[in-house]
Amino acid sequence: MKKIRYTDRNPEPLLPPHQRSKTFREYALGFSVSLALDEAQRCLFCRDAHQRCIKACPIGVDIPGFIRKITEGDLIGAYRVITLSNPFPSVCGRVCPQEKQCEGACILYYDTVKGRRNKGLPVSIGALEKFVGDFVRISGVEVSEERANPTGKRVAVVGAGPAGLACAYQLAKLGHHVDVYEALPTAGGVMAYGIPAARLPREVLSWEMGKLEKLGVRFFFGYVIGRTLSLRELLSSYHAVFLGVGAGRGSLGIKGDHLKGVYSAIEVLMRVGLMGAHMFPQVPTPVKLGRKTVVVGGGFTAVDCAITALRLGVETHVVYRRTRETSSARDEEWDHIQEEGAVIHWLTQPVEILGDEEGKVIGIKCVKMTLGEPDETGRPRPVPVPDSEHVIECDSVILAIGQKANPVAYEDMKELALTQWGTVKVDDQFRTNIPGLFAGGDVVNGGDTVVRALAHGRKAALSIHQYLMEEVTP
Ligand code: FAD
Ligand code: SF4
Repeated sequence: MKKIRYTDRNPEPLLPPHQRSKTFREYALGFSVSLALDEAQRCLFCRDAHQRCIKACPIGVDIPGFIRKITEGDLIGAYRVITLSNPFPSVCGRVCPQEKQCEGACILYYDTVKGRRNKGLPVSIGALEKFVGDFVRISGVEVSEERANPTGKRVAVVGAGPAGLACAYQLAKLGHHVDVYEALPTAGGVMAYGIPAARLPREVLSWEMGKLEKLGVRFFFGYVIGRTLSLRELLSSYHAVFLGVGAGRGSLGIKGDHLKGVYSAIEVLMRVGLMGAHMFPQVPTPVKLGRKTVVVGGGFTAVDCAITALRLGVETHVVYRRTRETSSARDEEWDHIQEEGAVIHWLTQPVEILGDEEGKVIGIKCVKMTLGEPDETGRPRPVPVPDSEHVIECDSVILAIGQKANPVAYEDMKELALTQWGTVKVDDQFRTNIPGLFAGGDVVNGGDTVVRALAHGRKAALSIHQYLMEEVTP
């Protein structure tokens, strides 16, 4: 009988903090072949894995299936198993919050069927998925993609984020003609303009994107749907349209947010991630954060702003009104930025940004919070501690709070049903109330994860396929 290796999980090697805080190079160095083989052997290949890790993966990767292929030394086979459901293993292996998804349900760590904590550490599913994707990318081996015969049906995808890309990928494989319209000059959505290269190198992203071009998907960059072309025009020239425009509109909304030195998170991340602000003066687009910055927020976006500010050489503080346990960012990333020198102020609510007589940021006034009764999401509601007001002095503030749906693509289509939060309403087949118009990703759920957006895009593509084959005449 196989000996259960509860605790000897192989950690993914990292660049040391003093080195990684100076570079936008990837700091998680990935498994070597021997580490990957050893880690794969920890998997128990549970017979009821469909109730555990597979169910906990939003896109349903056959986790024991691909891990078994690794143990057999068949890495191309492992890649084929993963890509049956997930088109971008190298991305998901890097950015998914696995501890809250597949790894959180690995029986070594937690028995999801009996609902109780076990004594071990989960298999490093994310690092293994990254290893398999990277192996195929770096080896240069061409893994052929099967594509059905052309159907003659044409689909427009609006937005080249993970939702739109997964939808385009799946539809192209099913033989449909797919055109993707993207406002920015590059594909990837948040993966390209939000997540720093230190977590997701751009060569990895480009390689994953290349798969779509090989399948014949056409990209139209610089097309702002709702401005350059309307959604109505797309609906009249294509058999179906998928809306995957995300929820990329930053929100400010704190007293003093007009001051010089206040940035929205997306502006900072875009300037660095897309425009190379960190290479100033070689590129003319600096981000002026001064000597000390305060990042407001506690999700992925806040952590990415901290990663970026640290690499720009700025003393970095993060204020978040809740606790680490309730944050949507990855646990290990909080550890990483703390190791790199960021100061995290948990249970701290900013109330006002303070400026000098020239209108420049000089500090941020905050109050301490404590956790009270659960709110409508079930998370304990933070409540202010009396007399806890204090000021953190700083030269700039980055607001990484409250991403909202960006309605530019559909604001002139008044008949499109929206939710009370301004997100697009869909049924369980990702159909909107407009015939032929489907939607998925953050524009539907208001902000979630890359893999959830990929899963939406994939499921929507299957639903579009059914619609095209059953309801649309050529
Ligand atoms: P997006 O990724 O937002 O893509 C939408 C695309 O549509 C964009 O390219 C946009 O330019 C385009 N678009 C918008 N309007 C128009 C228009 N009118 N016409 C044409 N194109 C348009 N999730 C994780 O799982 N792990 C992480 O580590 C992680 N880190 C994150 C870091 C940041 C900074 C942010 C903001 C989010 C992060 N997330 C992370 C969440 C995750 O990135 C999103 O849930 C996911 O990208 C949503 O995918 P999407 O395709 O719905 O939208
Ligand atoms: Fe392997 Fe853990 Fe999934 Fe079981 S739950 S199949 S041990 S990864």
